[in-house]
Amino acid sequence: MSTNKSTKLSDYVEYPFLIPSIYLDFDICVDLVEVQSSMIIEPKLKESSRLILQGNQIKLLSISINGKELNSEEYYNSPDELIIFNPPISKFELKLISQIDPFRNTSLEGLYLSSGMLTTQCEAEGFRSICYHPDRPDILSNFTVRVEADRDLYPILLSNGNKKYSGNLNNNRHEIVWDDPFPKPSYLFALVAGKLNTVSDKYVTKSGRLIDIKIYVETGDEKYTQHAITSLKKAMKWDEDVYGLEYDLDEYKIVAVRHFNMGAMENKGLNIFNSKLVLADAETATDDELERIESVIAHEYFHNWTGNRITCRDWFQLSLKEGLTVFRDQSFTSDLHNSGIKRIEDVSFLRNFQFTEDKGPTSHAVKPKEYVAIDNFYTTTIYEKGAELIRMLELLLGKEKFMRGINFYIKTFDGSAATTEDFINSLIKGAYLDKANCTFNLTKFLNWYYERGTPKVYVNQSWDSKKSILNVSFEQKINSDKSNENIEMVIPILYSCYGREKGGEPIVEDKLFILDKNKKNLQINALNGEKDFPVLSIFRRFSSPVIWETDLSIDDYLFLFLNDNDCFSRWDSGQILMREIIKNNINKHVNYSLEYSFINAIKETIKSLEINDSLLLSNLLTIPGLAELEPLFEKVDPINIYKESLNFQVLIGNKIHQELRVLSENILVNINQQWPMGRGERKLIGTIWSYLALAGDEGVKKDCVEAIVSSSMTMARSALRALKPLDSPETEEASNLFYDLWKENPVVLDSWFAYEASRPHKQGINVIEKLLAHSKFDWKAPNAIRAVIGGFSKNIESFHSIDGQGYLFMAEKIIEVDKINPITASRMVKIFSKWKTYIDKNKEEMYKSILKINKANISSNTREVVELILK
Ligand SMILES: [Zn+2]
Repeated sequence: MSTNKSTKLSDYVEYPFLIPSIYLDFDICVDLVEVQSSMIIEPKLKESSRLILQGNQIKLLSISINGKELNSEEYYNSPDELIIFNPPISKFELKLISQIDPFRNTSLEGLYLSSGMLTTQCEAEGFRSICYHPDRPDILSNFTVRVEADRDLYPILLSNGNKKYSGNLNNNRHEIVWDDPFPKPSYLFALVAGKLNTVSDKYVTKSGRLIDIKIYVETGDEKYTQHAITSLKKAMKWDEDVYGLEYDLDEYKIVAVRHFNMGAMENKGLNIFNSKLVLADAETATDDELERIESVIAHEYFHNWTGNRITCRDWFQLSLKEGLTVFRDQSFTSDLHNSGIKRIEDVSFLRNFQFTEDKGPTSHAVKPKEYVAIDNFYTTTIYEKGAELIRMLELLLGKEKFMRGINFYIKTFDGSAATTEDFINSLIKGAYLDKANCTFNLTKFLNWYYERGTPKVYVNQSWDSKKSILNVSFEQKINSDKSNENIEMVIPILYSCYGREKGGEPIVEDKLFILDKNKKNLQINALNGEKDFPVLSIFRRFSSPVIWETDLSIDDYLFLFLNDNDCFSRWDSGQILMREIIKNNINKHVNYSLEYSFINAIKETIKSLEINDSLLLSNLLTIPGLAELEPLFEKVDPINIYKESLNFQVLIGNKIHQELRVLSENILVNINQQWPMGRGERKLIGTIWSYLALAGDEGVKKDCVEAIVSSSMTMARSALRALKPLDSPETEEASNLFYDLWKENPVVLDSWFAYEASRPHKQGINVIEKLLAHSKFDWKAPNAIRAVIGGFSKNIESFHSIDGQGYLFMAEKIIEVDKINPITASRMVKIFSKWKTYIDKNKEEMYKSILKINKANISSNTREVVELILK
């Protein structure tokens, strides 16, 4: 029986009070913090209404209204709630004095200790651990914050907004006052106190305002901040150029924190980052990590408008800020680097993670209707699928109208809390001036927000050779919970058509077809005198987040793999062919002619692509992830799929050994260029190493060991990856070398922990136990936990071993993590969400382990996910 209480969207009611301003005073003492909060409260209703404030483990010392202490009959309080029975009916000041204990807070929510410094995480509901407050996003206030602490222990005292005052006090103490002129919800509150060093820079906005940029890090980390600063400046410039949005405070502060549940947090004017997403240079981070850091810095910066200036009315609207901001950071990276490749990377991520979530028990809509723990909804559906919905809107409206719509939305809702419907309606109004002019069905489009699961589209073609007309029929299927209703969505489909004999030139290029009914036909008749059945290229640029099935033939896909001028579609054709080959091999129906044709197509691609297409080539050569292979089978045998996918790589490595050798010699000259230059070549070398090492190339194994000590982290990690599947002395040697080099750098060492935990040919569980007991392992750092325990889930043969020991071990560890950090545990337990899809033996054993977690005394966060998984 579930004891969890859920929150429902339909239960939303406006809060009966406004809190236009709040003054917070933090007195940081040796083993506790005293918090005074003075809130100006304005009742919205004429009659008196109870004032209910949320709390979490707060010790109340004093409560007064308009300077008068309340007596015990006038209020009720427990550590997690404060109710004032008859507050005044006109504007009043509520003053609370309370105590909190951040020093023993391991949840990494509210105010807590990380490596000697005090820091906060308030999204989604952490502010209630700091002081009693409504703690809901639709209550926006002006915050003024005073912090007082010991000068030696906490020389740096930070909060949101601009610095108003700082000064020294008696007893070696000091104080600082921060003022944030922009009203914000409590989840954007932040405070940092500790021994930190500052790296400063400046930025001049388009209108000529000077912004102080400050990055705060632990001593010794200053040298790793330049990449973050450069990225921030690029993001500030891009948002001015593309969206016309400028930064609004005098200071922009970023703090790097080792113990952090999330990637980063967009607190107004005081971003707090997981140190892994700030501290980086080419020696300590891979090219992919540098690009990711650039995009996360930009993401948090972009939130200043989409999230902070306009926030969410309630947590059901989470995708309003996240979907839109992910879309903005994806566009930023796309504009800065290579749009075709960026699209491939984003789609690959979506398919491996969001599509997998959509197929499983934790599947939910972009706008869910209820939740138990909101922390469980920070998912790829809210973020990445949410971004796909915005991308479809951009495609349907066209770039110009889309921008007009966004600007109108920002003007309309600046300084307030909005809903996803507010966003869509104002976007359309701004784009078309009048909703009636909208060229697609808005009601059907909104189903993207309300329906869960990945829609399927079936495509069939017929060719009229006499009239040179290609007839294409489309059918959409949505797996709706409302099975009695006919749910239709607006599915934009970008397509092109190629003549088979025209040497790869398209005869119809990049047209938009809108599938907005269950069934709809398309006639392509601009094929001047074409006699042969043309080749259709659809869902170009991955124009909708759907799964499609077509009647295209193997030859069509081979043609598109060689000729399609859309990066995504070309890559996708190769992925389809590779999935087909691996699937046939697993089913013991080896299709030799397909293997032969595909390998020839790869050889031809290597020959035809220029060296400056290295990035595309390495993507074309990358095989589909296990999460994309599993759905091809009714019952998933994870170990078998893993082995066959490895065999397929061995096959490719053997068949194109010579071509890869020559290619790697040709591009080696370019790998020492500075990021982002040389990125494609480095990526391609890594891909080649993986194939050649699997094919038993002794020279490459030696090259890989040498690369560990090179000055490029990209090359070192590519080398580790290439050696990983091998049971060879070089693998051992490389791993030891890497550890010796980086044992004093916790950010880099996490990647070593993940590597060791996921390496096959190791005595799985024993190795993991040793890693967890390692002197450099930090149980309080979610990055370290994810590295080892998450890494073990990728050690396919150990984790999925049919005696169930791997599952059982994982269950025990999740229960342990849950005791310290429920948010991290509830995310990790999703490792078990696919249990029903496995072959019987694995399914039974995994089920037993889930039951074990369910029987344990676990947090409500983790219980919500476990119950969904068991359903
Ligand atoms: Zn975000």
